[in-house]
Amino acid sequence: NKPTLRQAISTDTDALVATNATETPQVRAAIVALVRNSDLFGLRLALRQIEDRFNHKHNYPYVFVNDVPFTDEFMQGVRDLTHAHVEFGLLDEHSWGIPQWIDQERYAETKRTARYPHAEKDSYRKMCRFQSGFLHHHPLLRDYDYYWRIEPDVEYYCDIDYDPFVFMKENGIKYGWNIAMTEFMSTVETLWNTTEQFLAARPDVVSKRNLRRWLLDDNGGYSGCHFWSNFEIVDLSFYRSEAYQAYFDHLDRAGGFFYERWGDAPVHSIAAAMLLDPSEIHYFDDIGYFHPSVLTCPKDAKTRGSCVCDSERSFVQNGYCTVRYKQVRHHELHPGESLDTV
Ligand code: GDP
Ligand code: MN
Repeated sequence: NKPTLRQAISTDTDALVATNATETPQVRAAIVALVRNSDLFGLRLALRQIEDRFNHKHNYPYVFVNDVPFTDEFMQGVRDLTHAHVEFGLLDEHSWGIPQWIDQERYAETKRTARYPHAEKDSYRKMCRFQSGFLHHHPLLRDYDYYWRIEPDVEYYCDIDYDPFVFMKENGIKYGWNIAMTEFMSTVETLWNTTEQFLAARPDVVSKRNLRRWLLDDNGGYSGCHFWSNFEIVDLSFYRSEAYQAYFDHLDRAGGFFYERWGDAPVHSIAAAMLLDPSEIHYFDDIGYFHPSVLTCPKDAKTRGSCVCDSERSFVQNGYCTVRYKQVRHHELHPGESLDTV
């Protein structure tokens, strides 16, 4: 337990600890983000909404982590918006670096020639690798069984009148999502092949019923479908399992976080699809949500109810990956049929 991973704060924390919660948290859970100091305004925007729409009733703690120390301005700016307990942490180099087995020349060549968003950035790749393999192991998350990921500039459009953490716990849900999309395929060219090597080597960890059919297109290649991980509510025992760790280690060794630009979203999604039973995955389609530049909004919410979003602009709910997911999940319900055959 490295003390350097928990940042000292200059304000009197006792005075700021929960005072107005009507319920005490029923689940050991936290709302979590990796963020930069420069994200303060965007994070405040997100925090204000998640407090107003959900957390003022629950006071789930927040955990924010960063690869450089948070400024006093950042920490105060966050604390000003919540009564909940807030912790700020640093990452260790091991979880943020470029592993020594990465061929620097090959990596440099990728950065020079690749044509996708953030192609030239070390930091974006380190961020994706960190969120894939290390966030759930951070010492500040040790006491939590679930996390809800947020990001700067996300918006929550609707009152959340129940506790998603309790819902997940009571129903044995391990992975909750609310936006599904296709990936820039050039960022994940070898991700599925590398995954298949792992699945072949470790058939013992593959869920008998799984969402392989959602991951694959009609030609048997990766469709690029993934859950957007900027919103995800997760039972951390999943990411901390030997199976997930072995999968991450296999991917990390293959180097695709750097030679390509594998995102934590497809990595988490493929793991959820292949290692979990479909019944352990939940689509939170009632949580109205926006991450630039995509929104998801409950049906008919435009002019009534607590949501403030235009369901007619919620294109992603009719998109390929969402519809395909529903088809595969529906298919799963037919007696005598199995999902583990393509
Ligand atoms: P996008 O959603 O894929 O466009 O990526 P973002 O720029 O939103 O980054 C995803 C999350 O990682 C956000 O919460 C960012 O604040 C955070 N993030 C990205 N790069 C860095 C970085 O270099 N350092 C830190 N501390 N956080 C980062
Ligand atoms: Mn983002």
